[in-house]
Amino acid sequence: MTPDGRSLLRLSSVRVFYDSVEALKGVSLHVNEGEIVALVGANGAGKSTTLNAICGLTPVRAGEMTLQGQSLTGLRPDQVVRLGITQVPEGRQIVGEMTVLDNLVLGAYLRLRAREKAAVREDLERILGMFPILQERRNQAAGNLSGGEQQMLAVGRALMARPRLLLLDEPTIGLAPRLAHQILDTVAGLRAQGTTILLVEQNVLASLRVADRGYVLETGRVVLEGPSDELLRNRDVQRAYLGKDYEEV
Ligand code: ATP
Repeated sequence: MTPDGRSLLRLSSVRVFYDSVEALKGVSLHVNEGEIVALVGANGAGKSTTLNAICGLTPVRAGEMTLQGQSLTGLRPDQVVRLGITQVPEGRQIVGEMTVLDNLVLGAYLRLRAREKAAVREDLERILGMFPILQERRNQAAGNLSGGEQQMLAVGRALMARPRLLLLDEPTIGLAPRLAHQILDTVAGLRAQGTTILLVEQNVLASLRVADRGYVLETGRVVLEGPSDELLRNRDVQRAYLGKDYEEV
């Protein structure tokens, strides 16, 4: 909770349509300051649509979205970024021809304009310290990094904006299990540093293991919500998402 007792992010009955198809059918959720909240569900459940609605990339037909009580509904993506929300999109979208360092600095472009150069330089050092592989490869073209390294770069670049809320869309997609674990360990480490995160994942087990709470989305509706350990013990979640081989955690 924020000092005034409100959640950092709150969505109330958000509805989104693509033409006549209702992709979000009244989604309500909240993220408190300092939490990692996982938004999980199958393909097409509406996870990316939820993130895109928050970011102002997809228009909302009905409902309300607020960041620390301030309305986000109807804002343009650049206005949402200025309020302190940064998204790491699925597919990473790093600039392959630019170096690792330049990609990181790009994440702070608003702050550079605001004459925060010294603070940006400090953050750059901090983030390179968090991701030794990026430090090692800082002068290489980002396009030459492996999938996992590019994902770390995308997270590092987002952190350069000093976001109040970080939105992560499928950070482990396409990664080998070992790298996926490494990325989620990094996400857990970010919470320890006070970053608030809304994490979208198809990997339900791994994401609930790092999250404090979770929401399960099915065809545009939240069908279950609660503390991660409760969701992991929930029979419906186990049956639908964790498979037969799932062992109780
Ligand atoms: P995935 O893991 O596959 O990205 P998701 O849970 O993120 O799935 P969304 O991408 O949000 O799901 O999609 C929700 C629904 O909206 C799906 O039925 C999808 O087909 C539909 N949809 C998503 N984007 C568009 C679009 N640009 N135009 C039309 N329909 C869309």
